[in-house]
Amino acid sequence: MASLTLLRSFRTRLSATVAATAAIVAIAASLVPAQTRFKLDNNKYTLEQDVKVGQEAAAQVSKELPLLNDARTEEWVEQVGRELAEAIPAEFSHPPFRYTFDVINQKEINAFALPGGPMFLNRGMIEAGMSEAEVAGVMGHEIAHVALRHGTAQATKGERFQLGALAGQVLGAVIGGTAGGLIAQGSQFGLGTYFLKFGREYERQADLLGAQILARAGYDPRQMANMFKTIESQSGGSRQPEWMSSHPNPGNRYDAILREAALLKVQGNADSGQFTSIKSRLAGMSPALTAEQIAKGNASKTGNTSGGTTSGGTRPAVRVEPPSNQGRTYRPANFLTLTVPANWRSSSGSDNVVTYAPAGGFGDNGFTHGLQVGVLQNGTGNLQRDTEQMIQSFARSNPSLRQQEGFTRDTLGGRTGLTTVLSNVSDATGEAESVTISTTQLRGNTVLFLIGVAPQREASTYTNTFRRVRQTLQISDQ
Ligand SMILES: [Zn+2]
Repeated sequence: MASLTLLRSFRTRLSATVAATAAIVAIAASLVPAQTRFKLDNNKYTLEQDVKVGQEAAAQVSKELPLLNDARTEEWVEQVGRELAEAIPAEFSHPPFRYTFDVINQKEINAFALPGGPMFLNRGMIEAGMSEAEVAGVMGHEIAHVALRHGTAQATKGERFQLGALAGQVLGAVIGGTAGGLIAQGSQFGLGTYFLKFGREYERQADLLGAQILARAGYDPRQMANMFKTIESQSGGSRQPEWMSSHPNPGNRYDAILREAALLKVQGNADSGQFTSIKSRLAGMSPALTAEQIAKGNASKTGNTSGGTTSGGTRPAVRVEPPSNQGRTYRPANFLTLTVPANWRSSSGSDNVVTYAPAGGFGDNGFTHGLQVGVLQNGTGNLQRDTEQMIQSFARSNPSLRQQEGFTRDTLGGRTGLTTVLSNVSDATGEAESVTISTTQLRGNTVLFLIGVAPQREASTYTNTFRRVRQTLQISDQ
């Protein structure tokens, strides 16, 4: 104890000296005010790969989300976006990148940009903005993420255990929070997370470089801080706008932007003077769609019900063959094998979740019988906490989901696992269903999860099946 106290007081003195030095440096720096400088993070992708994955993801977004397709609004957004893109500092203006700007006819306040430059702005974001400069503020922030290559830098750090295709699952992250079922939710932890949800350091960089871009383009960068306040003020109840959850406040966000703004000189005036007329134009259209309406529309369009959401309400359960006693072994990722009943088939879709289900258990009738395997990225390293968070995330889009018991500690792939059983009401059939969730820790704060789903009345059969599958799991992630 005594030595610990000594060490503490020693440290205190040391840090006082460091603080004094820092103060001198700060005074010296304040004589020559300089804007914040950035450097690109380690990135294993080429610029061309940024463009490629971004365009693939953008094609998926354009296919599945309703674009506004209003020429006047699009022209205005493109004009604002072009001014901003041209104002990117030379060191971050990567020649292969193409900045494009589309408006999604969606009500929720959100915007996102994909690697290499495609940006999507929800109509709700424009409707919430108080001025062109505020909307430009969000766009400048998004452009900064792209220019700093945050999406692929993040993927560089954490892609080791990714399942499925590289370009997948932006959609789950975009609409999964408010709509869709277990698959869309599961995919939130996939690659979409890399492209769309950033940590505090990247947020800080995007705020400050965004402010620089705004000033160079001719917008007052303080309006970016105002827009963030506007977005925050729109949060209804406990649900914060999607944009705020994917762009977390790095701390002192407004002050930091205002401080940076004080170092910047706004170059000219870019305001097009069109904002008021664009807003009244939007106000005259039929209301934007909610995320839920969009997800339901997609489910009825494609027949892929994303875990149960259907447009026509509940449907009668189809007859599903019971699990075979024979097994079939699959290798959903190079570090993972498992054996499932031989009458189940695998489907991996474009998300990072692989589904094993009998005929009729997954498809037009929703996901009613079978098992999904996926990987949760960017965990905390605490398996129970990560599992609880995953369940909370599922519960947001499955309001009837209830945990029935505590976690059982078991063995999964030769290591410690957690299993718990939950009850739910199937969106597809309207009937009670049983959901078994098992997790185990992989390397690099990554979590492997298995989700077994079966109707409550068949739960005893499937509980045994899921246990058998868990026992066959082999993991080699060393
Ligand atoms: Zn951000």
